[in-house]
Amino acid sequence: MPTHRAIRIQSTGGALELADVETPPPGRDEVRIAVAACGMCGTDRAFVHGGFPNMSWPLTPGHEIAGTVAELGSGVADFAVGDRVAVGWFGGCCYHCGPCRKGIFIHCENGKVPSWHYPGGYAESVTVPASALARIPSELSDVEAAPMGCAGVTTYHALRSTRAVPGDRVAILGVGGLGHLGIQFARAMGFETIAINRGTAKAEDAGTLGAHHYIDSTSGDVAEAMRALGGAAVVLATAGNSQAMADTVGGLAPRGELVAVGVTPEPLPISPVQLITPGLRIVGHPSGTAKDVEETMQFAVLSGVRAWVEELPLSRAAEGYAALEEGRAHYRTVLTM
Ligand SMILES: [Zn+2]
Ligand SMILES: [Zn+2]
Repeated sequence: MPTHRAIRIQSTGGALELADVETPPPGRDEVRIAVAACGMCGTDRAFVHGGFPNMSWPLTPGHEIAGTVAELGSGVADFAVGDRVAVGWFGGCCYHCGPCRKGIFIHCENGKVPSWHYPGGYAESVTVPASALARIPSELSDVEAAPMGCAGVTTYHALRSTRAVPGDRVAILGVGGLGHLGIQFARAMGFETIAINRGTAKAEDAGTLGAHHYIDSTSGDVAEAMRALGGAAVVLATAGNSQAMADTVGGLAPRGELVAVGVTPEPLPISPVQLITPGLRIVGHPSGTAKDVEETMQFAVLSGVRAWVEELPLSRAAEGYAALEEGRAHYRTVLTM
């Protein structure tokens, strides 16, 4: 059987090791992709540390995949060998369960995520369900496309799913892997854009990314600073920090929305009394389907939104992961094969 190189982690918290692994042919309704690029997402840390139920080891992380269709399984009619495709957090759905029959594929009861339900994209080859494939527009390189499958679609699709309309004020909490895309998308969608982060180290970047205002959350009351700007229709909370999310609630305008996309198990310290009179909403938002990823990439082409990327070859994945683990990673590290 042919083989390809892939990162493998033998057990929870183990090292990222480059290995030669077998490349089986794709099964029915599956496609094999020759991977060109794969983003390193903050959530990859949770996988490496075994933070999801029913994981299998050895683990190959990676759910921001871009590449070219290399081989088709039986029954795949909509894609051809040579097509450029991306696969993000949404790694396929079943089309048969209750949520799928209702058309809400992102909530599929049998939904798959690369690296969780099958080996992920820190590899030269991945095999995925055809339902996971998003077409990459010709204007985007593979390195540009890869982060759109998770960081991109999560922020873009969350923002476009709010009630905010152009001209409204939108705050992005956290200027990191997700937040730096959230700021760009918010600006491109016509929102008056507020960036919120700890300290002033990211203030200049936030301005370059398109933020009209910057709030240093360590320098005073965040909600008061937001109210001084007129209050926000939406807070897109990309920082996985429940206290920081809660601190923005008093800065929402009447009928405002706190949209949580930053992952943390900590309870949100928010009282109903804060929500009732101003009629606020708190919602969680999952990433988006393959079609949403496709639309994210199309909007990136229209608007010029791009992840700020540092490229690393697959052989140096362990190095990139160490930077992610220690919180000193670039906005997006993208592995190239
Ligand atoms: Zn992710
Ligand atoms: Zn389903």
